[in-house]
Amino acid sequence: MRLSNQAVIEKAKEVGFDLIGFAPAEKLNRETELLRKWLDKGYHASMEYMQRNFEKRLDVKNILPDAKSVISLALNYFCDKQFTGRKNFGKVSRYAWGKDYHLIIWEKLDKLNIELKELNPSFEMKTYVDTGPVMDKAWAVKAGIGWLGKHTNVINRDYGSWIFLATCITNYEFEYSLPVEDFCGTCSACIDACPTNAIVDEYVVDSNKCISFLTIENKAEIPNEFSGKFENWIFGCDICQDVCPWNRKFSKVTREESFKQNLIKELELNKVKNMTAVQFKEKFSESPVKRTKLSGLIRNAKFLLNT
Ligand code: SF4
Ligand code: SF4
Repeated sequence: MRLSNQAVIEKAKEVGFDLIGFAPAEKLNRETELLRKWLDKGYHASMEYMQRNFEKRLDVKNILPDAKSVISLALNYFCDKQFTGRKNFGKVSRYAWGKDYHLIIWEKLDKLNIELKELNPSFEMKTYVDTGPVMDKAWAVKAGIGWLGKHTNVINRDYGSWIFLATCITNYEFEYSLPVEDFCGTCSACIDACPTNAIVDEYVVDSNKCISFLTIENKAEIPNEFSGKFENWIFGCDICQDVCPWNRKFSKVTREESFKQNLIKELELNKVKNMTAVQFKEKFSESPVKRTKLSGLIRNAKFLLNT
């Protein structure tokens, strides 16, 4: 049976995705050129993996030789809870409040793959969730999921930017979605609100200055120049997304239960400072917070306590 866009959309919605778009599997010439310039300026900081597998980022045919289309999927993770603002507690970025999204999205992608193969056994797809040499944001933009905001997150008109992206490279042709317009306009709220001036230009973030990088991927000490600027973020930072008018107006509560239960929104700094490896493992075994490892989390807590 021929797989239609509608069949994919229905199945993807059934397994829990909120947005689905289709793009031809063309080379990402412009996007990889911008990536190259960003890397040349050293804005990737110590994320050396960003420099690897350039050919695959440029052309998904270097991943799946028979690639014809890329399906971009998005899952809304917004939960309308707020921080308590308690003294000596560090804030965790929204995306990490619930269960690790990789686990949730991989499960959904597996189900989707099985369903689509049942409809057409020759259908193949290779899937990525924010790991691997795939430019997930570029594909989401090409597939009409949203536009790239000046803070460099993808923004959708109905959900804002609180969305996880998954990218599926497929050997199948579909009707392609139209990219959406950039609705940032003259707004600069994210640039103005960033406490470390990490958005060095419109659509350009210098990771060396970004709290999100400094508290998660960064393995080194946090430089003193950022003392007093972290606004109590212990893991990640949502400031540029919190101030975005599209999130303020259009965020909707997720339908995914795992993003609404057993939430880890804040962490007591003194407890983190004295946390043992066993306690860390117990608390974060299914949480994205484990990414920073115990040593990184303790470093972050000490940094907040001392500044
Ligand atoms: S995540 Fe925080 S530090 Fe990074 S660009 Fe946004 S506001 Fe700035
Ligand atoms: S805050 Fe304004 S400039 Fe920044 S991403 Fe949102 S709409 Fe665009």
